[in-house]
Amino acid sequence: MDEIEINNLTFNKYLSAEALAARVKELAAEIENDIDLNEWTFVILLNGAYVFASDLLRCFTKDVETKFIKISSYHDMESSGKVSFDQNIFKNIDGKKLFIIEDIVDTAQTLHEFTNYLKSKNVGEIKICSLLLKPTKLKHDVTPDYLGFSITDLFVVGYGLDFNERGRGLKDLWVLKGG
Ligand code: IMP
Ligand code: MG
Repeated sequence: MDEIEINNLTFNKYLSAEALAARVKELAAEIENDIDLNEWTFVILLNGAYVFASDLLRCFTKDVETKFIKISSYHDMESSGKVSFDQNIFKNIDGKKLFIIEDIVDTAQTLHEFTNYLKSKNVGEIKICSLLLKPTKLKHDVTPDYLGFSITDLFVVGYGLDFNERGRGLKDLWVLKGG
């Protein structure tokens, strides 16, 4: 099936589960080759990155330290521009190496505000891995160190990403028809 309906809108298949899995495997190998996994805390940005992160972490050959943080910024199909998260989770990060796992970088407002906050708390080092990036929407100078796919300005759902809380469980990635 190459077309589905979510919240009364039609979506077409964009990236298959197989293509996603193959790229995630490559990313994990690249990361494991570049850094000492033991030195880093993997910070998973909820909700969207939960599927990507769970696949990525399970491609590593070693166990890693993880932290989950809920960050919200999106309503309907547009970034609300307001980023919120629980600052208590990151009180003691002086000198720590944080490896952020994100589902998609759109305007980059979320990562801009989050990484600025971490820097204000004297984080040691930050690396960013995002499954997806919409380069034409970028408003801030935030470049993922690791990127799954660069996509045009399209609204996508599935593989953890939602459209008003629907679509997260779909194993493929779907794109809004004509959007
Ligand atoms: P940013 O702050 O504009 O970069 O937006 C980042 C967040 O918006 C991502 O972490 C996603 O949760 C959400 N988002 C951005 N684009 C899409 C999309 O096409 N589909 C679903 N969620 C999206
Ligand atoms: Mg997200």
